[in-house]
Amino acid sequence: GRKFFVGGNWKCNGTPEEVKKIVSVLNEGQVPSSDVVEVVVSPPFLFLGLVKSSLRPDFHVAAQNCWVKKGGAFTGEISAEMLVNLGIPWVILGHSERRLILNESNEFVGDKVAYALSQGLKVIACVGETLEQREAGSTMDVVAAQTKAIADRVSSWSNIVLAYEPVWAIGTGKVATPAQAQEVHFELRKWLFANTSPEIAAATRIIYGGISINVSHVLVHLLLSFGSVNGANCKELAAQPDVDGFLVGGASLKPEFIDIIKSAE
Ligand code: 13P
Repeated sequence: GRKFFVGGNWKCNGTPEEVKKIVSVLNEGQVPSSDVVEVVVSPPFLFLGLVKSSLRPDFHVAAQNCWVKKGGAFTGEISAEMLVNLGIPWVILGHSERRLILNESNEFVGDKVAYALSQGLKVIACVGETLEQREAGSTMDVVAAQTKAIADRVSSWSNIVLAYEPVWAIGTGKVATPAQAQEVHFELRKWLFANTSPEIAAATRIIYGGISINVSHVLVHLLLSFGSVNGANCKELAAQPDVDGFLVGGASLKPEFIDIIKSAE
């Protein structure tokens, strides 16, 4: 089986005081054991050391990006080797905010994934379509091309978690329905089956992002459909056969993150 995976992407947020508070909430949270769920939180680079040194040992940390090759004269960048040297096990690559705002191409993201893996990092590789692409019916073409750029450059997928993050559901309070998420996850797994190997398709965790459990937006929906806000929509998403976890943005900075981790059970 594929172990449930819950990632918290803090994005470009937090003061040292806020970071200490979030860590203490995480440290006190009652969650399923690490045999059941793998939890990885991703603070901004500047807080990686602070979080790593104060976080409970069953949770791990991820950087939100790294340089595409060996370090050197690349002002402002952080290399994969540096992350490895500092004991940071994971990195998020290809997040839609970097693809769209910083113009990272499929090929560039593929190169980053391959290099990070070659240095021993584990990678949360993100794919996802924009609203325009979804409305044009090109969702699968877009996510397949993004995934292919990775598959073309790596042979082993054992250190990759694939995050499907529909861009129209990120930070908007909109959540794809469990059926919409399952449909794309199923297609991605089929794509892996046909283009990598049946073993890779069966073993690779495909997690869903854009789950914004933004209470102000989602509360009404949750009350209507489930009667409880405690990780209610994540439970139904987690029950989908091809949804192996989550990459959570806004809600990973809040105590709700603990409820989302609990949806692993
Ligand atoms: P939100 O959960 O804030 O919508 O962000 C999702 C995301 O981008 C995770 O990487």
